[in-house]
Amino acid sequence: MAHRVTLIPGDGTGPELTQAARRVLEATGVEFEWDVRQAGVEVMEKEGTPLPDDTLESIKRNGTALKGPITTPIGTGFRSVNVALRHELELYACVRPCKSYPGVRSRYEGVDVVVVRENTEDLYAGIEYEAGTDTAEQVIATLNALQPKQIAPGSGISVKPISADASRRIVRFAFDYARSHGRREVAGITKANIMKFTDGLFLSVFREVAADYPEIASREVLVDALCMGLVQRPEEYDVLVLPNLYGDIVSDITAGLVGGLGLAPGANIGADAAVFEATHGSAPRYKGQNKANPTAMILSGKLMLDHLRERDAAQRLEQAVTDVIAEGKHVTYDLKPSRDDPTAVGTSEYADAIIARLALSARASERTGLRNGN
Ligand code: NAD
Repeated sequence: MAHRVTLIPGDGTGPELTQAARRVLEATGVEFEWDVRQAGVEVMEKEGTPLPDDTLESIKRNGTALKGPITTPIGTGFRSVNVALRHELELYACVRPCKSYPGVRSRYEGVDVVVVRENTEDLYAGIEYEAGTDTAEQVIATLNALQPKQIAPGSGISVKPISADASRRIVRFAFDYARSHGRREVAGITKANIMKFTDGLFLSVFREVAADYPEIASREVLVDALCMGLVQRPEEYDVLVLPNLYGDIVSDITAGLVGGLGLAPGANIGADAAVFEATHGSAPRYKGQNKANPTAMILSGKLMLDHLRERDAAQRLEQAVTDVIAEGKHVTYDLKPSRDDPTAVGTSEYADAIIARLALSARASERTGLRNGN
């Protein structure tokens, strides 16, 4: 049966990148029924909102979406569509695998790290009080009355809520992910030595949950030590689970370790819906030029196949991407030794090369099947 998936082309380079990913996904042989819906700056001009209700309803109905990047308009009063989607659909887990692919120019080899970031709490919960406002002064006065340590009047305040329930949900997600993907270790990342009641709570939940997964190693790492460890010996890390803010920062470090944003896929997952999207933004300067690298978007499609339990197709797709990058011939400008290499191909031709690889591997496995009498 075909998988019904909401497809959001997005804006900037989003439409050309999602088109490339869509063609590659279809070439795996898995059947999709795409429910194409709009979000972003272009639809905002027409409908007055960057996230129309029918788009949200479509994701709720289908449970799965592949989404192109979307520009966050500055100074319009609209919040980011990306943040709104995570909030409305309660997409509590952000998963960002970062893997070295031979042929990509990077300082490192053998990196295979999965960042599992909590998506709903922490300093990103959006509970903030602007310096100098009456509410900020009231918050400061209330806090100052409760404690000997005093907050200076006129300070801006951001609140960092971390709950046991949300921590348990994300840590359990990370261990379940490790179990179902054959990973060896989950590291719990905090700054629990300093923030005892927030990161400390996250860490105590991490210890409690880790005990339920005896076959998976667990380790505790402070976020500053992790940053140094990642740039010195990234191959020593496996699955990382982090509160929201550290997860955001660390996933950019891990993307950098494997060659940059053009190669970093992502998934935002909740109990009832999952949205797959590249880590990068809309790269507006390349809009309509058939130039941007669709790898992150295509690999987000690979994560979607995994999620839809199309494991064999997911593996074939990743192998095809690996082969095309390793060969280095039909790749976008950013994967060539120099950025003005005239042999670089466009977004669409790179997708064609991956599709050709998929066809090649399908023919090879057909031949093996015939030889084995299957
Ligand atoms: P960006 O990721 O769009 O670009 C950062 C740099 O990486 C740029 O130099 C860009 O040209 C390059 N780049 C990004 N993707 C690339 C690709 N596939 N191939 C080749 N080069 C690529 O980040 P930005 O410029 O900070 O943001 C642009 C817009 O995207 C902003 O409005 C931002 O809010 C939005 N954004 C959206 C998402 C999302 O939709 N999930 C994520 C991040 C940023």
